[in-house]
Amino acid sequence: MNELLQHLPADAAQRRPDEPALVMGGRRLTYGELESASNRLAFLLRAHGLHRGDRVAVLMPKSPEAVVSFLGILKADCTYVPVDPASPPARVAKIIASCQSRWILAGGKDPSTLDKLIEDGPRGPLRIAWISPEPCLGKTFVPAFGIDDLELCPDGPHPCRNTSDYPAHILFTSGSTGTPKGVVITHANVLHFVEWAMRYFKMGPSDRNSGHSPLHFDLSTFDIYGTLATGAQLHMVPPELNFLPNKLAEFIRSSELTQWFSAPSVLNLMAKFDVARPGDFPTLKRLLWCGEVFPTPALIHWMKRLPHAKFTNLYGPTEATIASSYYTLPHCPQNERAAIPIGSACAGEALLVLDDDLRPTPPGQTGWLYIRGVGLSPGYWQDPEKTAAAFVSSPHLPDPAARLYKTGDLAKIGDDGLFYYLGRADSQIKCRGHRIELGEIEAAMNAVAQVRECAVVAIDAGGLEGTMICCAYVPAAGSSLTPVALRETLRAALPAYMLPARWKAFDGLPQNANGKTDRKKLKEVFETGRYEP
Ligand code: AMP
Repeated sequence: MNELLQHLPADAAQRRPDEPALVMGGRRLTYGELESASNRLAFLLRAHGLHRGDRVAVLMPKSPEAVVSFLGILKADCTYVPVDPASPPARVAKIIASCQSRWILAGGKDPSTLDKLIEDGPRGPLRIAWISPEPCLGKTFVPAFGIDDLELCPDGPHPCRNTSDYPAHILFTSGSTGTPKGVVITHANVLHFVEWAMRYFKMGPSDRNSGHSPLHFDLSTFDIYGTLATGAQLHMVPPELNFLPNKLAEFIRSSELTQWFSAPSVLNLMAKFDVARPGDFPTLKRLLWCGEVFPTPALIHWMKRLPHAKFTNLYGPTEATIASSYYTLPHCPQNERAAIPIGSACAGEALLVLDDDLRPTPPGQTGWLYIRGVGLSPGYWQDPEKTAAAFVSSPHLPDPAARLYKTGDLAKIGDDGLFYYLGRADSQIKCRGHRIELGEIEAAMNAVAQVRECAVVAIDAGGLEGTMICCAYVPAAGSSLTPVALRETLRAALPAYMLPARWKAFDGLPQNANGKTDRKKLKEVFETGRYEP
């Protein structure tokens, strides 16, 4: 494979230059405009002295210009690093220092992160370009160039020296030590997934795909490159809609989306607010989720509302690029407690369930989930130690030299030959000697009709108390659910030792930057008794 990600839109740009590629908030960028703007940006980046292999941070809100920036950086033979502009400046500074980026492509209405970054940080050779239609209101910097300068540049294509095994982007995920870890993703990593997905989902130019995930989250790379590879339209979802389930539903309707792809929590929220009528979103062909367990009751809700759509669970960590396995539901589950498999490996990948000695476990037995194959990242940016700890090989496998990624997830192979995700080892706890999966308590909670959303976390209560199970929940609208009543209901589903000791009702569960339930924050809430949304 020698194609590069930036070549994906070229075909549509040549054949259908006036068709929209990116749509957001009433703005649209056609394939022709996307191609020429990214060519011009590559020209400018090179003219400003960027070299092959340089890392370039992109610190701007989700927007067509962010995608132009990604492609322009790739066309300059460089590697982009998408950074969440809502992150605290200190975290942004850590990421920029870690990837040794000398350039930031910035934009948007609020330059305060950038201002603070420059005020606080070592200025060094950091240079900023303002790739945004909004005026630059930054107080601490003068951009090296702005979006208007693109117009003055030649818009022809550039010869590239990179090959597909070259880093396309570095995605920073939260690191247990407090410093974000940079997962290096090559062109080939993304291309393999996109090629599999195009075939499997039969994606084509008439598709109108959602762009829901934030651009620093790896699901968004499928939104972008899956769309551009097929000459389809990417409808970028404004992040503020995340908290407005009715508006989100209206977005899907009015954009006439054919594909929705997100983490499950937003689908949960929409389900709980019951924002879709039966047969709603008539153009939607597929609903895909990844990144978290989609509670079966919410899945059933959606499958009943949208009988015309196909529902696919995609599973995978950032380190194995977007997703490594898939499962399309053959029919709506009958039972709200049914476990939905993560399915089988995507083409070119393999899932393995291994024991502590890296030997395969027999079907039905729980083990550690490892991933092998074409999606595997070369490792963490300039961190051989963490890379060696997470990317291993096993002498007990037929190919003892093959690289495996240790996901840290627990899994089993079911009687049906499919893989089942069984939770994180770190959400398995011991409470008064009993071994408990917090996911099991959540599943029982999710089956209670008066519960809209829930998350169960374990805290160390110290002393004789030991580990304490804490349950955060959002009651359904109009329900006057009390912890006492909940506990009584759960008693019918769980042994007494699994019943949470502490309860707290929320208006909505806190979410992290990736749109997942923020369990770290929930633990803090239970530990300190304080909550500031
Ligand atoms: P991230 O790197 O943010 O994508 O997180 C990867 C982790 O999310 C995996 O190791 C799993 O723990 C979890 N995950 C990803 N996809 C799924 C899924 N479909 N079902 C359950 N958990 C998932």
